Amino acid sequence: VSKKTDQKAEQLLATYVQFSPPIDIEKIARGEGARIIRQPLDHDVSGILLRDDSQVLLGVNAAHHLRRQRFTIAHELGHLSLHPGRPYTVDSTIRLNWRDDLSSLATDRQEIEANAFAAAVLMPEKLVREAVKSLRPARNTTESRLIDLLARQFDVSTEAMSFRLVNLGIRS
Ligand SMILES: [Zn+2]
Repeated sequence: VSKKTDQKAEQLLATYVQFSPPIDIEKIARGEGARIIRQPLDHDVSGILLRDDSQVLLGVNAAHHLRRQRFTIAHELGHLSLHPGRPYTVDSTIRLNWRDDLSSLATDRQEIEANAFAAAVLMPEKLVREAVKSLRPARNTTESRLIDLLARQFDVSTEAMSFRLVNLGIRS
């Protein structure tokens, strides 16, 4: 999973010249042909991806926090980039902690991949490691403070950053 998703994320970051945080995820999504539509949706729904031969609509729940909306856009872009031939996707609340070992169902695998892609594109490993290196020397930086600073720098939720650091083996 991680190889394919990381490669795709890196390829898009290079194409759209995104080499420092925060990543302009809307620019990448638009560049890939998605029209982003923000609308208040059911609380349970994070995002919708609708595609046919002529257009790609990416619906985002405008009632959600902006950082969460960024993750949703990245997640739907993951479906768009990795999962061709799925005309209609509705994502109810995206489970950030969806891990490989939790499910072997095909649809769940696609959710895992979309999440892994979202994490890799919004929080590229190299940039996260550089940021951690530059923030950590301050001895008084507690772990929660570090996550907070990184989340702000990458414009993602602290939850998403927290999971990313665990997955990268930076924290346990
Ligand atoms: Zn999804």
